[in-house]
Amino acid sequence: MIIKVPDTVKRYKNWIITGALLLVIIIVSRKLKFIRMIKDITNDLPSRGEYQQRSLSSIDRIIVHHSASPAGKFNVYDFARWHIDPKGYLKSPRIAYHFCIEPDGTIYQTNKLTSIGWHTINANATGIGIVLNGNFETEQPSEAQKKSLKNLIKYLNDKFKKKLPVYGHKEIPGNATACPGRNLKIEQFRSI
Ligand SMILES: [Zn+2]
Repeated sequence: MIIKVPDTVKRYKNWIITGALLLVIIIVSRKLKFIRMIKDITNDLPSRGEYQQRSLSSIDRIIVHHSASPAGKFNVYDFARWHIDPKGYLKSPRIAYHFCIEPDGTIYQTNKLTSIGWHTINANATGIGIVLNGNFETEQPSEAQKKSLKNLIKYLNDKFKKKLPVYGHKEIPGNATACPGRNLKIEQFRSI
């Protein structure tokens, strides 16, 4: 069977190829730019050991937290120190969360995705924990934080090739908490 290529397509063939290539370059460079935006400090944070590990295929949800401390007053290194403190409330081997988003929108990766971090009762084994620095019972998350959270969810959905459901910590049964705070409207992050 001979497929007849329309004359207009023939005429503009080079332009179409150039356009498609440009589009691919733009998409790839935007993706790379975002991957560079995630600062992996997993090996820099204070720790007392390592979490139990899981396979990436067992991951099935994203759980959003707030730090419940005034925005920017403490940083991700402080959170890590509190969590691993043998006299502290968590006494975990490492920081609880997988990612931390600072008020200026900076995203830190703080645990390997294969690590079972202790951030949410009944959902640690399959959840990815993301904390936003701030107390959203009393403050508003910054626009930069909200944008970074959306980008991070998009990045994780792409990575896992599926739409991971997004929950606020308090939505998981067994967790008596206000986290991630009344001012963080979780609905706006569910349809990403
Ligand atoms: Zn929480």
